[in-house]
Amino acid sequence: MTHKILILAGDGIGPEVMTATNKVVTALSQRFGLQVELEHALMGGAAIDDCGEPLPESTFNLASSADAILLGAVGGPKWEKIDRSLRPERGLLALRSRLDLFCNLRPAVLFGPLAAASTLRPEIVSGLDIMIIRELTGGIYFGEPRGIEELADGTRVGRNTLIYAESEISRIVRLGFEIAGKRAGRLCSVDKANVLEATELWRDIVTDMGAKYPAIELSHMYVDNAAMQLVREPKQFDVIVTTNLFGDILSDLASMLTGSIGMLPSASLDANGKGMFEPVHGSAPDIVGQNLANPLATILSLAMMLRYSLNEPQHADRVEAAVADVVGQGYRTGDIFSDGMQRVGTVEMADAVVAALAA
Ligand code: NAD
Repeated sequence: MTHKILILAGDGIGPEVMTATNKVVTALSQRFGLQVELEHALMGGAAIDDCGEPLPESTFNLASSADAILLGAVGGPKWEKIDRSLRPERGLLALRSRLDLFCNLRPAVLFGPLAAASTLRPEIVSGLDIMIIRELTGGIYFGEPRGIEELADGTRVGRNTLIYAESEISRIVRLGFEIAGKRAGRLCSVDKANVLEATELWRDIVTDMGAKYPAIELSHMYVDNAAMQLVREPKQFDVIVTTNLFGDILSDLASMLTGSIGMLPSASLDANGKGMFEPVHGSAPDIVGQNLANPLATILSLAMMLRYSLNEPQHADRVEAAVADVVGQGYRTGDIFSDGMQRVGTVEMADAVVAALAA
């Protein structure tokens, strides 16, 4: 089966890390029989320069019809002064919401040889492999009513609404159980059910659904405790599923346990498993065009695409093993460099991954 992939290289280091990742795609198709058809389109600042809007309709149409989307990064100083509604990041938000990508997957994996890059002690983080699943299109970030209003006495109040429909909770929690089933089989649902009714409903739904997944070891944790436990003993977690707000905070916390932003992939999925895959980092304007960008976050995003959208787990395993291999061999871009290692650029790192792909 031929997979149709839309490539959105974007801005800043986006095109560099995407060129690097394309080499891996080419190697997978030429040497290992992966069947792909690649399309390329403009998005973010590059699209603004071309046609005045960050998400042209032609790009959206290609995104709708693709099996999966791989994105580099968008944004940069050049577009920071333009009207907020036309900024590059708006294109990204619009694409996520128009494609109903409600499930955000943020793995925090620490490759053994990089344990020294974490701010936590190596024995706390080495071998870390957590998947944080964040609800992405609901909750307090979207709930109405919202806003800042002035009261009769001249003082102001700010208001946001935490609201979750049963269906919104069920669909993300179901993915949590399914994904836990493909990993170590442990799911921790994070809420604040002791204080927030919306998350009391969340907990009820998780508990009910747990009965349908007897093979999954289910636990519940309040978000304040989860934050503490992620720093105290992060390896106790396999999969965490949580709301938009809690997931936003906990996924950033967990990702920094691994040390470098240049290593972190992410995925945003719809109800059918179709998704957009992108590195967690931005367009890194300070290093653009210097062959300094670490391409591994994008290459690992490709692996996530192969696993979660394209159902090609052997190719995903192959890419992840190749990344682990090059890190084990001591190849380092500047962001993960330490004494005694071999410093390489974006191009050389991609070439090393391609060379490490094994049958
Ligand atoms: P950033 O992630 O681009 O950079 C933060 C720091 O990390 C910089 O010092 C950068 O050099 C470094 N870095 C990032 N990725 C790296 C990589 N692959 N290899 C080596 N070093 C890397 O965040 P920022 O500076 O806050 O934002 C820059 C621009 O990117 C802004 O316009 C922002 O809006 C945009 N942004 C886009 C996305 C996205 O496209 N999803 C995400 C975050 C930020």
